[in-house]
Amino acid sequence: MAAPEVMDLTKVGRDPTFSDRLGGDGKLVHRCIQCGTCTASCPASAAMDISPRQMWRMVQLGLVDEVLESTTMWLCSLCYQCQVRCPRGIPLTETITYLKQTAMKEGLVSSRQSGAFYRAFADVMRRYGRNREMEFMVRYFMKGNPLTAFKFVRMGTVMMMRGKVHLELPVDREGRSLEKLFRRVAELEAEA
Ligand code: SF4
Ligand code: SF4
Repeated sequence: MAAPEVMDLTKVGRDPTFSDRLGGDGKLVHRCIQCGTCTASCPASAAMDISPRQMWRMVQLGLVDEVLESTTMWLCSLCYQCQVRCPRGIPLTETITYLKQTAMKEGLVSSRQSGAFYRAFADVMRRYGRNREMEFMVRYFMKGNPLTAFKFVRMGTVMMMRGKVHLELPVDREGRSLEKLFRRVAELEAEA
């Protein structure tokens, strides 16, 4: 969904408590002065349907559906460039994480596939401590729509031929389970 050039705010649903509900310092989004530094700093902004600057304005306005259904947060690589450069000191990257959590909790259709990607990756990392490409892809397609796997057969074959995808972890690259780390994070989240 690309951001419309003009939006009639009297004709869309809005929730003025949106940023307050984001947790952490999400409410600091109210400080945004629309300078555009976040968009200019973002390495992924060209691929996003709404730019980071537009997204923060939409959060201020309480445009919940428009923000949570956009691809912007899912394309964020958590590089922290926008956060360290924001002249208003807003914790932008951390607030994007809260936006993702909210989208996943609300089970929005547009976030299901991205959520499946994150969960599959976390499951593999938890088990092996590093990515195991083949298992990760199988888990991802099984959590989402398995039929979409056919679209990637050609690319997957080329990647395997070039040694970018391995059926098994090479012995010298075996990782260690991150079970302990994941358990500790779950404990901290339960306390928060
Ligand atoms: S850099 Fe900060 S103040 Fe500037 S537009 Fe982005 S969020 Fe707003
Ligand atoms: S943290 Fe995300 S939104 Fe911010 S600059 Fe990096 S990729 Fe862009």
